[in-house]
Amino acid sequence: MDTHGRSGDPLRVLNGEIVGCTRCPRLVAHREAVALAPPRRFRGERYAARPLSGFGDRRARLLLIGLAPAAHGGNRTGRIFTGDRSGDWLFRALWEARFASQAESARADDGLRLRDAYVTAAVRCAPPGNKPTTREMRRCEPYLLRELELLRRVRVVIALGRIAWRAYLRARRLLGRPLPGRAPIFAHGAVVRFADGVTLIGSYHPSQQNTFTGKLTRPMFRRVFTTARRALAGRARRPGADRSDRDRRPAARIGRGAPLRASRPAHPDGLGHAPRHHS
Ligand code: SF4
Repeated sequence: MDTHGRSGDPLRVLNGEIVGCTRCPRLVAHREAVALAPPRRFRGERYAARPLSGFGDRRARLLLIGLAPAAHGGNRTGRIFTGDRSGDWLFRALWEARFASQAESARADDGLRLRDAYVTAAVRCAPPGNKPTTREMRRCEPYLLRELELLRRVRVVIALGRIAWRAYLRARRLLGRPLPGRAPIFAHGAVVRFADGVTLIGSYHPSQQNTFTGKLTRPMFRRVFTTARRALAGRARRPGADRSDRDRRPAARIGRGAPLRASRPAHPDGLGHAPRHHS
């Protein structure tokens, strides 16, 4: 069941608000400008050039949070992570883990259905250089907060990149949900279990920058979803692979990635500064 299968429900209302949003002048200008100057391979295509809502199963237990739509991916096709290489990686991994009906995600009308999974982003408009400003993130944040309130069955969250990781932790704080005393540090494969039973898993973003350079490989990405499946089944690895807010040990990781690092004091707003690149 996807979010567009019912009328008049709060998630549908929220998604309608998102796609009509014009709060960020810079991003409105950018999403429309790229539509007017597409690369050769997309010439002649009609771009959606609007904000993107989340996509997937309203009863999802797995939530994936990305950074923002790609200028010539979601901003073109009108569906998040659809029509670009990041989406190719993401939906293949979701399909392999049995969360998606197909491995490809080329167009919004391609019949793709998600099962027990919902995909969203910290920012809903494509930002120049994939770098939203802190002010733009703040403007867009209420949409993520409302999504988190409406997706009541979510038990596992995969943060695709450091910005998504921080955005989710900040959202938890704003929603009054339990957090560790120290902010968990992002790493690929980091696993954090909160006192309310939700598990957060960190993953490098499947951006071309990460996948082309080998920073993120298919096996590494696959293991993230294996961990998510285990967590949904109540079998997340421990000890040493999970971290609860009662347990202040460094967040553990799976697969290849950054070495273990101790947690650091929480940034006052739980977000910090945007990194230069997808991570
Ligand atoms: S980034 Fe978010 S708040 Fe800004 S215009 Fe797009 S949807 Fe609206």
